[in-house]
Amino acid sequence: MSDKIYDVVIVGGGISGAALFYELAKYTNVEKICILEKYEALATLNTKGTSNSQTIHVGDIETNYTLEKAKITKRTAKMIEKFCLQYGLEEKIMFSHQKMALGVGDEEVKFITDRYNEFKELFPYLELYDKERLKELEPKLVYLEDGVTERPENIIAMGAQGEYTTVDFGAMTEELAKEAQKCEADTDIFYNSEVEDIVKTADGYELKTVDGTTYKAKYVVVNAGAHSLYLAHKMGHGKHMGCLPMAGSFYMTTKEFLNGKVYMVQNDKLPFAALHGDPDILANGLTRFGPTALMMPKLERYKPGTYIDFFKTLNFDMNIVKIFWDLLKENDIRNYVFRNFLFEVPILNKKLFIQDARKIVPSLTEDDLEYAQGFGGVRPQVLDKDKQKMMLGEASIDTGEGIIFNMTPSPGATS
Ligand SMILES: Cc1cc2nc3c(=O)[nH]c(=O)nc-3n(C[C@H](O)[C@H](O)[C@H](O)COP(=O)(O)OP(=O)(O)OC[C@H]3O[C@@H](n4cnc5c(N)ncnc54)[C@H](O)[C@@H]3O)c2cc1C
Repeated sequence: MSDKIYDVVIVGGGISGAALFYELAKYTNVEKICILEKYEALATLNTKGTSNSQTIHVGDIETNYTLEKAKITKRTAKMIEKFCLQYGLEEKIMFSHQKMALGVGDEEVKFITDRYNEFKELFPYLELYDKERLKELEPKLVYLEDGVTERPENIIAMGAQGEYTTVDFGAMTEELAKEAQKCEADTDIFYNSEVEDIVKTADGYELKTVDGTTYKAKYVVVNAGAHSLYLAHKMGHGKHMGCLPMAGSFYMTTKEFLNGKVYMVQNDKLPFAALHGDPDILANGLTRFGPTALMMPKLERYKPGTYIDFFKTLNFDMNIVKIFWDLLKENDIRNYVFRNFLFEVPILNKKLFIQDARKIVPSLTEDDLEYAQGFGGVRPQVLDKDKQKMMLGEASIDTGEGIIFNMTPSPGATS
């Protein structure tokens, strides 16, 4: 029994859980730490390399970030790079690609130019690419289907060369856990250990797993994705929040396509919703376009069940109705929701998706893309029922009582 008593128990073995595991083992004097992971391995859900876009979101080309937000993001995103360099993981799990945010049409061209001028001091390596430069760097952004005629709209991009942009977050999770286990701290990882109940006791917490084992901890951090909120609700915490799982799917090119990452100008009301193209490091550099966004009545993609967990975690009431109503009132959002629904309907999906993706590559045809079967994940968007708003970015419930619950929609792997 004594070996089941820990200073800190981390629930969830995705990148959030593994990063904390490493940080505690390497940089603190916490002596006994364990991860309890529901499945048979680390990173089988959203952190898996094929579930997300593999992008290290530094804040330089993320057009929905303010300069202030970018300053914070830059510091935390650099931790990924530093970790990988420290352990010689560059060109193994972390890669460098050219990257850019593309503006199409006069309004976006002005937006990108202004933004470049505002952000170049914080990111001195940023460059502005006009149409002539784009012909060399990323010609598919410029030419129509005949390969000679230029697209009619004005375009410009801000971007960078030679920066680390891409990481297999699944592989990084394993590396974080491996390095943590080499530290002096006493560390354990228990697989097939789904936590179903957490109970507060006089000196900490007791966690019960589905197989009937009990773990004791002074402190608990729940990094279980959408299930963080599920477990919080079970303990009576975060009742003012609900979780809306947004599935994201991708389309893969049939041959090598873009030379680097191409992002578009984001809509302020829908951050991280604009499609992008990324060379996939797990698919021989084929370009992955996406993600789409579709509300899904379950918390985990490509795993059985979790429908009931979804209904419990949504925490449905009139506040949720009001949030949905306010969102759907907006023309942009209503169209986006409807189009994304159609992106999942066979036959129609590819045609419609291509129409949108042509904003990036005007020559794109149906032969260029396949639906990326088995790719994609779920972004657990958090709804704040008190403020009657969807929260953007990650959310945390720090109870102040030695237990924290973290929810991590995109770009949660970076943050
Ligand atoms: C389509 C898409 C594209 C994305 N692109 C990017 C990107 O380019 N860059 C970026 O930074 N982020 C991106 N993200 C977001 C990123 O993938 C996630 O934020 C991140 O992987 C979340 O990591 P996590 O460890 O918090 O959660 P997860 O990876 O979801 O891991 C949670 C873990 O908890 C475990 N668990 C759940 N319940 C229990 C329980 N009761 N007991 C024990 N264990 C439990 C699960 O099995 C799982 O292993 C994207 C997400 C999606 C869906």
